[in-house]
Amino acid sequence: MLIDPHIHMTSRTTDDYERMRQAGIVAIIEPAFWLGQPRTEVGSFKDYFSSLVGWERFRASQFGIKHYCTIGLNSKEANNEALAEQVMELLPLFVCKEGVVGVGEIGYDDQTPAEDRYFRAQLELAKEVNLPVQVHTPHRDKKAGTITSMEVCLEHGIAPDMVVIDHNNEETVKDVLDRGFWAAFTIYPNSKMGNERMVEIVKKYGSERIIVNSSADWGVSDPLSVPKTASLMLERGISIEDVRKTCYQNALDSFGKSGQMHESDWLEGTDVDQREKFSDNSVLRGGQTPVVGAVGTSGGLESNIVR
Ligand SMILES: [Zn+2]
Repeated sequence: MLIDPHIHMTSRTTDDYERMRQAGIVAIIEPAFWLGQPRTEVGSFKDYFSSLVGWERFRASQFGIKHYCTIGLNSKEANNEALAEQVMELLPLFVCKEGVVGVGEIGYDDQTPAEDRYFRAQLELAKEVNLPVQVHTPHRDKKAGTITSMEVCLEHGIAPDMVVIDHNNEETVKDVLDRGFWAAFTIYPNSKMGNERMVEIVKKYGSERIIVNSSADWGVSDPLSVPKTASLMLERGISIEDVRKTCYQNALDSFGKSGQMHESDWLEGTDVDQREKFSDNSVLRGGQTPVVGAVGTSGGLESNIVR
């Protein structure tokens, strides 16, 4: 069983859901983020958040995957301050909904004063509702941005074990682990953090508080990054226990602090019924035969090897 705790399924297809389930992914977390096209109205945030707790959760269930999300104002759109103010008013209505396991993904993009202001405001919100925080670290000036993100969390009195620092690399991992935060790594195909490098990180730092994800979205990305990295780790002699922690257990332990995500969710309830509808919409098209009953994989981690 695997968990991908950072994937933007809104941008992905049903083929992806099928392949993910076959590869052993039982649960996913979809953080709220930007959509490529900048939003101009608060209503499009509202509908987007609604789809994360509604339609997308249903769509995942139709393929035997448990869907959770984090809700937040992303750093890039925090720079549109007039709109950001309105989004902040919306957030309390969504963070306490079923299946919301954190406030995220929030943090810094260009590290502007507006980003700083809304990051801090959302940390206060997370504290108020006692939810974990999923922090997006900047791709430019990453090391400084990562350290600032952690310092700001501490300044707001948030415990490090309630914060998942995302998009780490070799330059940031030690600082994050030393400070007691969760360190998540995004495995992008043919670029910066590839799965070869992830194997080396786990060999060097072990599996404590380290989490693997795909961050697959509308860009060039791979929704099978977690299973592929798990396979490569096993192939390179990393113990099955370390693979289980980095590709499953640590995601559950960190986001499980929300009280919204339990292993029993997928151990007991992944039967699929594609005859079901959401707001009168089905994932099936004319003449297709609905899948009804148990779906899944043939067995344990080793039998799910994908390349
Ligand atoms: Zn993301």
